[in-house]
Amino acid sequence: MRITRIRPWHVTGPAPRVDVDAPRLSYVFLQVDTDEGLTGWGEITTYPGTIANRTIVAALEQVGEFLRGEDPLQIEAVWHKVFRAFTYMGTRGATTAMASAVDIALWDIKGQALGVPIHQLLGGRVRETVPLYTHFQYARTVEQMVANASAEVARGSRAIKTDPFMAAGGLSNVRYIDGQIDRSVENTAVAMIAGIRSAVGADIEVLIDAHALYNVPTAIRLANRLAPYDITWFEEPCPPESYDALEQVRSQIPVRISVGERLYTRFEFLPVLNRHLSDYVMPDVTWTGGISELKKIATLAETFYVPISPHDASGPINILAGAQVVLTVPNFYRLEARRVDLEFYSAFLEEPLHVRDGALLVSERAGLGNRLNLEYLQAHEVSNTR
Ligand SMILES: [Mg+2]
Repeated sequence: MRITRIRPWHVTGPAPRVDVDAPRLSYVFLQVDTDEGLTGWGEITTYPGTIANRTIVAALEQVGEFLRGEDPLQIEAVWHKVFRAFTYMGTRGATTAMASAVDIALWDIKGQALGVPIHQLLGGRVRETVPLYTHFQYARTVEQMVANASAEVARGSRAIKTDPFMAAGGLSNVRYIDGQIDRSVENTAVAMIAGIRSAVGADIEVLIDAHALYNVPTAIRLANRLAPYDITWFEEPCPPESYDALEQVRSQIPVRISVGERLYTRFEFLPVLNRHLSDYVMPDVTWTGGISELKKIATLAETFYVPISPHDASGPINILAGAQVVLTVPNFYRLEARRVDLEFYSAFLEEPLHVRDGALLVSERAGLGNRLNLEYLQAHEVSNTR
């Protein structure tokens, strides 16, 4: 079998994401066609929005030329070919995102070629369903945040994640300069989490995302202020470049840490694990290197008894690919998703996704077990990319 075409799709999504005043985001998928009629699907979808997505689409067009004629079943070899070809551009970010999209699509093809779901090729199920954690709409007031969190729990979520500082302050990831926060925003954010804990009760897990926005003393103070509300983790306390900053924060907070959405490949997770810097790791299957890399990182983390909890702030292939891997991973906590009803993802797909008791159900269909709806893609393609 040979790869005949790599076709990136840049499309607008069906609904805004959870950020305050968020614009309608765009998504990047990869269609890999073969000379035997099988098609595999991958995803990249990166940030910030359409700027990054347009750039990655342009790069994917070049990768397509590079991979035409390759055997799609030789996944490991193709992964290394993509990864090593772009190391002068860096071994993280765009390079690993491209490797991820290709890798996921090739696993999809391999599963279809062999007539089995990808999780069978990764060792088979160690669990029947994939527990999720989910988000709810940001709001500027404590009352509305509590109402939104309660609504997501009422829809069936057993674990909810939010960034109360971003919600209260309208902050964003492009803001980081000094890593500090306005005190009134901080106080409102703490009141939001106090209110949410009181409203949802002790049995619902509450996760906090700091979005890598804080310097060391600020991160320490924020984590300590939220500790009384039994938070499951405090995610990305500081920007990802400094493991030393993470170590300093870790030594002075009583809550668990999760990092990894901005770490790329097993090579960047190893020092985090070796230095005991995080209680959870959260690689993103569409950024860190695909299904192949997520499985390797999971096994690496298993040797430290650290659970993985894959990051997903993008589209449906992300969740489908992540689910295929974590079905086979013993050291797994939860898979990230937007809303527990999963309607957002189903809008892109030929078959709707199904959830039960806050957990994703994964079929035994071959490959990823689902495919993107071409009618949706054609109707929502961002026009100036092709
Ligand atoms: Mg995050």
